[in-house]
Amino acid sequence: MRGTTRLLGVIGDPIQHSLSPVMHNAAIADLGVDYVYLPFHVKPSDLTPAIKGFEAIGVQGFSITLPHKQTILPLLTRISETAQAIGAVNTVWWTDQGWSGTNTDVEGFIAPLKSEQRDWANLTAVILGNGGAARAVVAGCALLGCQQIRVVGRNAPKLSQFVESWQQSPFTMTLTAHPWADLPTLLPEAGLVVNATPIGMAPQTAQSPLSADLIGHLTAGAIAYDLIYTPRPTRFLEEAQAQGAAPIDGLEMLVQQGAAALQIWLQQPAPADIMRAALLDHLAHR
Ligand code: NAP
Repeated sequence: MRGTTRLLGVIGDPIQHSLSPVMHNAAIADLGVDYVYLPFHVKPSDLTPAIKGFEAIGVQGFSITLPHKQTILPLLTRISETAQAIGAVNTVWWTDQGWSGTNTDVEGFIAPLKSEQRDWANLTAVILGNGGAARAVVAGCALLGCQQIRVVGRNAPKLSQFVESWQQSPFTMTLTAHPWADLPTLLPEAGLVVNATPIGMAPQTAQSPLSADLIGHLTAGAIAYDLIYTPRPTRFLEEAQAQGAAPIDGLEMLVQQGAAALQIWLQQPAPADIMRAALLDHLAHR
């Protein structure tokens, strides 16, 4: 680092577990650009002064993780259409007019699906969970062209609110809300099943969002996508693959949302291979 080094970073509470500094600093080193990417622990009550401070010290851009993805919205001058539809921002950059924000989780989610040859318009997507990541998944499925999206949740009022929140979005898909009890009928029709819950994430690796009874309803040839990246694979993906489904884990989403953010900040292509390798190396040694 020198006097000219420009600042990027990530804000969150907590922030200690963030993998973003690992992959972004690996990319920065590979590109040989004069930047550094730092973790910033920002508590909810400190969000406004922290962002004001970022402006004052010339931070160029930053990533946003829990719990600030929604609360950052009023502090931004411009929000991309996708981020508006999702209602959450994960990437911010400084412009002459102020802070601009978008959501690269959508691009990250879609990236590993692009190589799948599917008739997206006629494929039904089933999404398990209705939290923040599920919002990026809905937008991603809609952008791929899925017309039928089923969201499965355990909290009925929260789930209805989730579905209603998409009514003003630019997307034209049919989005329906379902309790977990509907899965025996939903799974046989699903071409894509996404786990957007933390069920199965380390250290609870013996868990799966689909019980032994339910996994049997998954069709061979369906895509089983788990947003979780520790462990790789999760129990859900192992069992889905044994059923003949095509498994995708969450690592590529993490890499590609980061690469898309870095590309915005640096205005040049990001080395996704370097970022992936840095993450894999870090995960293998922690
Ligand atoms: P979140 O906002 O907390 O949402 C979690 C969702 O899972 C909620 O709908 C929650 O239900 C549901 N859920 C949690 N435990 C459950 C259980 N035992 N049974 C049924 N439903 C349960 O979290 P998030 O940010 O969306 O993250 C979800 C997962 O995606 C996490 O594993 C996270 O690591 C992963 N993720 C990965 C990436 C990536 O780049 N690969 C990016 C973002 C997130 P309630 O609403 O009823 O509580």
